[in-house]
Amino acid sequence: MERNAMSQEQTMTLHEKHDAGKKEAFAEQQRIMDKIKTIGFARYAENLPRLAEAFDLKKHQLDDFENCVCCMDERTPYGVHSAGSGILLSEADFATYMKVVQPDAISSHDGCGAGKLYCRAHGLPEENSDQIARDWAEQMAVKFDLPHRHITAEEMGRKFHDARVCYWDATGRINNDPDSGLPEGFVISRAYMNKENCLNEVRAALDIIFGDHGFGKEFLTVENPFVIAAVAWDEQQLAEMQQELAELKHSYGDRVSFDAFIPPLTE
Ligand SMILES: [Zn+2]
Repeated sequence: MERNAMSQEQTMTLHEKHDAGKKEAFAEQQRIMDKIKTIGFARYAENLPRLAEAFDLKKHQLDDFENCVCCMDERTPYGVHSAGSGILLSEADFATYMKVVQPDAISSHDGCGAGKLYCRAHGLPEENSDQIARDWAEQMAVKFDLPHRHITAEEMGRKFHDARVCYWDATGRINNDPDSGLPEGFVISRAYMNKENCLNEVRAALDIIFGDHGFGKEFLTVENPFVIAAVAWDEQQLAEMQQELAELKHSYGDRVSFDAFIPPLTE
């Protein structure tokens, strides 16, 4: 009896700690998000002296790999991105992705939300999703004759997602990079995947961020929406990206907002 009471207390404490962690993580980026809301992403990005670092693949190497396939997860900023390293793509689309990207490695990571979605879609046990996603990446590494690297929870830091943004990236170079001054974000590589697959990935990102492992509706409100930001090299490409994003259907209403910017960098 006493032991039960004890463990209940401990569980509550852990739960409270988790919520406090989210609260703190949300507050950490509030100043940035307020600024973006006030002046817009374009003007905000224009004034970041270290913005280039988010687009520098050399800074975002995983071991010695400069072009590693990573998850869209903001906690895996190590190269080029696709949800679960491509686990949600069809076999043919994944082969196309690999051909376009020409990566030098493929990664998997602990606590992959895309891995969970993959298990759900294929009737596999969700509690084993980490191992299943890891096995899948290993198999793909063998198939495409590349090294495989697993990213551990320790390397990733936070146990939950603190992304406030999802980057719809036509440059194929952006990585989550707090030093750059950009808010933490998922990365959807529109540079390397077709529109439909990218729209699917945005929906997956929204389900993750609005679920238990993200900030959820408690934090992401009409006042403080989750932002989907198109990123492109020039005005024309940016307009195309924004047009594509206008097709996104989701169920989070005005808790999701849209913005866009061009990095003032050379391609
Ligand atoms: Zn993942």
